[in-house]
Amino acid sequence: MGAFLKVDQISKRFGGFYAVNGLSFELKQGEILGLVGPNGSGKTTCINVLSGIYAADGGTVEFDGKMIHTMPSYKISNIGINRTYQIPKCFHSLTVKENIDVALAHAKHKPQVDPVEFLELQGIMGRNAGTLNTAQQKTLDLARALATGPKLLLVDELAAGLNPEETESMTTKLLHLSEQGVSIIVVEHLLSFVHALTKRVIVMNAGKQIFEGDLESASKDPLVNQVYLGG
Ligand code: ADP
Repeated sequence: MGAFLKVDQISKRFGGFYAVNGLSFELKQGEILGLVGPNGSGKTTCINVLSGIYAADGGTVEFDGKMIHTMPSYKISNIGINRTYQIPKCFHSLTVKENIDVALAHAKHKPQVDPVEFLELQGIMGRNAGTLNTAQQKTLDLARALATGPKLLLVDELAAGLNPEETESMTTKLLHLSEQGVSIIVVEHLLSFVHALTKRVIVMNAGKQIFEGDLESASKDPLVNQVYLGG
């Protein structure tokens, strides 16, 4: 069997500027991959291409046996790729329950876990999303993604703004999802968060992959050190 996700030479341009420039990698079912690199290196753009927010200007993406690089985002979501956002995208004027219900109503797959119980949201179901703190909003964003039963979860800067305890709790939850067969790509600046989740990272710089391998070797790699000083 081939890779579950096969990204081949994808590029995304804004005007003449390549935000992602010929990126290739593969991911297995249930595998967690860390996508790291300095600010502006193209990580979020890569996630935006994989989730269909942007059409790639070049390259192909194959997921679960289907070519998806020309699909609109709703179709990509329907076939099982879902995401969280750097800045959570919940509906602020709706309650936590209503936010989750909207996602459940659009779900094409049965969730692997009950997002409310799994993320321990029972106590805040009646609260308006706009009144939640950062950790709660990020948890709700993840709950909305999990409500769709994703096969591939794209997680953008989930640990940013979380305290160590909240970060550890998120880590445990993502590891549990991967054990259930959910593939996960984590975009992170916080290397300790990536470290706790996976050994395999891709380091990006200026839209290109400059390293692929384990995190320990990445931290010793001269080019990685040159462009990415552990921030
Ligand atoms: P990262 O997630 O690694 O911080 P991004 O993917 O957000 O990097 O951005 C990569 C580069 O692409 C940056 O230089 C950024 O300014 C540029 N960029 C991202 N989105 C857009 C856009 N919609 N229009 C123009 N430039 C963009």
